[in-house]
Amino acid sequence: MSNYEVIVIGGGHNGLVNAAYLARAGRKVLVLERRHVVGGAAVTEEVFPGFTFSVCSYVVSLLRPEIIRELELPRHGLEILPLDGTFTPMPNGDYLWRVNDHAKTRREIARHSKVDAEAYDEYGKAMVDMGRFVKPILSMTPPDPTSLDPRGLMDLLSLGRRFQALSDQDKYNQIQLMTMSAVDFLDQWFETDVLKATMSASGIIGTFLGVRSPGTAYVLLHHYMGEIDGAFRSWGLSRGGTGAISNAIAGAALEAGAEVRTDTSVSKVIVKDGVAVGVVLENGDYLTCQVVSSSVDPNLTFLHMVGTEHLPDEFVSDVRRYKFRGSSGKVNLALDALPDFTCLPGPGAHLRGAVSISPSIDYMERAYDDAKYGRYSRRPYVDIVIPSLTDPSVAPPGKHVMSCFVQYAPYHLREGTWDEHKDAFGDSVINTLAEHAPNIKNIILHRQVLTPLDLEREWGLTEGNIFQGELTLEQLFFLRPAPGWAQYRTPIKNLYMCGSATHPGGGIMGAPGRNAARRILKETGGRR
Ligand SMILES: Cc1cc2nc3c(=O)[nH]c(=O)nc-3n(C[C@H](O)[C@H](O)[C@H](O)COP(=O)(O)OP(=O)(O)OC[C@H]3O[C@@H](n4cnc5c(N)ncnc54)[C@H](O)[C@@H]3O)c2cc1C
Repeated sequence: MSNYEVIVIGGGHNGLVNAAYLARAGRKVLVLERRHVVGGAAVTEEVFPGFTFSVCSYVVSLLRPEIIRELELPRHGLEILPLDGTFTPMPNGDYLWRVNDHAKTRREIARHSKVDAEAYDEYGKAMVDMGRFVKPILSMTPPDPTSLDPRGLMDLLSLGRRFQALSDQDKYNQIQLMTMSAVDFLDQWFETDVLKATMSASGIIGTFLGVRSPGTAYVLLHHYMGEIDGAFRSWGLSRGGTGAISNAIAGAALEAGAEVRTDTSVSKVIVKDGVAVGVVLENGDYLTCQVVSSSVDPNLTFLHMVGTEHLPDEFVSDVRRYKFRGSSGKVNLALDALPDFTCLPGPGAHLRGAVSISPSIDYMERAYDDAKYGRYSRRPYVDIVIPSLTDPSVAPPGKHVMSCFVQYAPYHLREGTWDEHKDAFGDSVINTLAEHAPNIKNIILHRQVLTPLDLEREWGLTEGNIFQGELTLEQLFFLRPAPGWAQYRTPIKNLYMCGSATHPGGGIMGAPGRNAARRILKETGGRR
């Protein structure tokens, strides 16, 4: 028994945002987190003595400014440090290095193509316009297009009006972004292969698609919508790692009166006569409440915790059809020194931003070819950051931590298991890096390899999908996580969803948690 009004399942950043808003509105809230630490995929841990890693997610941009403001996250320790630019080494000994300084980037692109340097400005402007159109959608509850609910109809109408107000060119761009591949979209603007390859990489993150697959242009836009201190589409590092973001949100939730329990795994949602009335913990304890808000994915929530016997068949079919298809892995390295890139030797500012192993479109597509046929990429796309250069607190003096996000690592392997292939996968990432920075093998002190199976086992991410389900068009907006159930409600009364599997999806954004809290409050009597 308990006297909690709301139990939030999962203490990832969305569960914590949800709890913070509900507690601030006067609800008695308990967050239950299975791991020993809060944060979910936004977590910092000392993986090797003295070396602290953002173990999963590593850069931040999408976190909604209204959440930072309303929860006063800087007061709770949030500090975002700018990440300056993207450096892409090329096999021919050249490189592409885009930085936040507009004039410098223009000159750098002009070194590859004068036409592209001109187009880059126009492209940047068009994407900002697109982002401006989509951004308000992130904070809204998706209207159900099949319903005659006047509020939903008004929302649809207002969306239509905003679309109408776009310039003709922006309208075409918007439709193209929703339908094209990242490469086809970028082809319309640019001619330089390495520029298109490295830009298209944002279109495949967390999806089981290649840069030439239709639908990836939208994911590109999804990753463009962030802002830091009002600077649109900029990315940053959180001081203390991405776990510091979760800790700041947890601080806001605790201050508002929420309770957070770690090392506490939920095994069942108790359903009586179609109504959620509490949860059962793995240790057998029962906790009753008026509302259950689940931040774990639909597979865990419905097929494991609720049970299909309580759900309509059609909804169960939709949940079974929901696509996870994890495609990413992570390699975290503790280093004795900095990597030395052949194309730009020495410890320069190029190491302070992201380093992207995405030298050509064919390279990116070949990496996907491996995955299509059930193998991890032998020469993967790797997105690297070295946070110790910006935030020295994460490694001992003179040493470094390096985070390597890797695609593709398909959850379903054609041969063997991930446990069998884990080391070889790590080796393929290191070998790929060594092609560009040959000293890497000599400076590795420790390495942590995370496969999609590890992401599933340790973080409860089904099939290792980093966004709790692919960000493909058929799983977005009023279709996320299932048609008719995109408004944070579920077929079980008093059971809500508040994690990345709901609109607007994955990334350290907080929007699902905040939108779901608004919904819960609306349906349970509002603010007190
Ligand atoms: C490898 C990787 C790299 C990424 N990189 C980035 C990045 O650089 N930038 C970015 O913006 N996004 C990134 N992402 C995506 C982003 O981290 C996630 O979309 C986001 O953190 C998800 O937050 P969430 O709160 O919705 O869910 P989660 O973080 O998945 O939280 C769910 C929580 O529920 C807990 N849980 C699971 N089962 C139970 C149970 N039975 N009982 C109780 N608790 C349970 C889990 O332990 C977890 O803490 C990355 C993700 C991964 C995995």
